[in-house]
Amino acid sequence: MAGEVERLKAQTVVIGSGPGGATVARELARRGKEVLVLEEGAYHKPVGSWLTMLKMLDHMGNFASIEGTQMVRLLTVGGSTVSFCGVAYQPPAWLKDRHGIDIQPYLDEINAELDIKPMPESLIGGGSRRIMAAAQEEGLDWKPLPHFLDASKCDLSCPKCMIGCAKGAKWTAREFVEEATAAGVRLKTQAKADDVLFDGGRVTGVRGTGKTGPFLVEAERVVVAGGGLGTPMLLQASGLEDAGRNGFFIDPLQLTTGIPAKGPGSHKDIPMTCGTLEMQDEGIIMTDVIDPWPLYYFGMVMGGPRKAKFYTGFPRTLGIMTKSRDALTGSIMPDGKVSKPLGSPELDLLAKGREIATRVLVRAGCAPDSILSAPPRGAHPGGTVRIDDFLDRDLQTPIAGLYVCDSSVIPEPMGLPPVMMILGLAKRLVNETLEKGA
Ligand SMILES: Cc1cc2nc3c(=O)[nH]c(=O)nc-3n(C[C@H](O)[C@H](O)[C@H](O)COP(=O)(O)OP(=O)(O)OC[C@H]3O[C@@H](n4cnc5c(N)ncnc54)[C@H](O)[C@@H]3O)c2cc1C
Repeated sequence: MAGEVERLKAQTVVIGSGPGGATVARELARRGKEVLVLEEGAYHKPVGSWLTMLKMLDHMGNFASIEGTQMVRLLTVGGSTVSFCGVAYQPPAWLKDRHGIDIQPYLDEINAELDIKPMPESLIGGGSRRIMAAAQEEGLDWKPLPHFLDASKCDLSCPKCMIGCAKGAKWTAREFVEEATAAGVRLKTQAKADDVLFDGGRVTGVRGTGKTGPFLVEAERVVVAGGGLGTPMLLQASGLEDAGRNGFFIDPLQLTTGIPAKGPGSHKDIPMTCGTLEMQDEGIIMTDVIDPWPLYYFGMVMGGPRKAKFYTGFPRTLGIMTKSRDALTGSIMPDGKVSKPLGSPELDLLAKGREIATRVLVRAGCAPDSILSAPPRGAHPGGTVRIDDFLDRDLQTPIAGLYVCDSSVIPEPMGLPPVMMILGLAKRLVNETLEKGA
């Protein structure tokens, strides 16, 4: 009946089905626990089409900080991994050294379970090979990067990783969601958690809005995994007003492109196959990648009048991404707006990356007057409710039984794609805390 509240019960509610939420649900399911996953997005299908991609993107991809930096997140089963590039960066040592959290045993499990390996030679496209050769001639340690990929299902005919892998070659968090549901976990899609309920300092449930109206879940434990932006918004709406108010990172990235006179470009290549981590300690990583064509042309048009060669040269265009570490600045506002000013040192790091990318692209044959850099954007908002700040080292909030497990918890700016760290933290949360009934 319209207006009636649907009432549910679960031992553990997991909010969000990105890599954090999916891994927690899968690990609990493997231990026979009773779990309900609430996911704001739908189970969008088929993946690999632009129409599906537009439906999955928050604000159809048009979400930006109030300062104008574009930020991308997907609201769908599997979260942003549905469009991620699948690079499996091993997390930095500071998580153990400075925060006492050792996830290495869990990373070893993930490396084995998902068979993480460097991108095989056969899947490195023509543009990426040109860039690698030029980068190595420039003295950079540029090499194939480890990927979440079943290489036997992948080939070079569809460079669609970023709009969703239709071949099932790229691992996404949907695989863990499917494993969890096969083991009995309930998944409620298009079910947005509106607030978490607690009483006397202990969590009691979740209130939300679903396809058919409002719902109320009574729960012993709640794990919030709504992502770097979704989690602080939900915690604020639940009365935890400090969530997301004390700075965060977005790992700003910048694409630099150039057009050689002839030869293969990057647009048919699998993105981020190769790159360099040698400046990681300084705060920069660099990889091959170019925007898919609709985004490339959108950027060209938005960038103002350009010479015809920039439009016609797309099939030959080579692209390099610089990703930098940024400072913990900015705030998530109660109205859902986000402030994220960019300043030094991240803009200086991006400038250094642009200068290196330009040298590499020119060496790869690009005309110097064809080099362009897009405005910085953020693909990894995180660190919004950090360990050793908002959370304790068991990922618990000040409310007993209320945990967070996603990119929000990362305690320091990363400057690195975070999925491996999130998976390791999620396995640790279940094995060392939730399993013990905390
Ligand atoms: C184009 C692109 C390429 C990338 N490439 C890489 C890469 O190569 N390697 C890498 O490691 N990382 C990469 N990333 C980053 C990576 O995908 C994200 O950092 C990661 O998915 C974050 O995981 P998460 O669990 O924190 O949140 P998300 O993946 O954002 O998942 C959060 C989920 O929670 C749901 N949710 C939010 N709020 C609510 C609510 N109130 N109620 C119910 N559900 C809610 C959302 O719908 C979403 O499904 C890339 C990202 C992008 C956009």
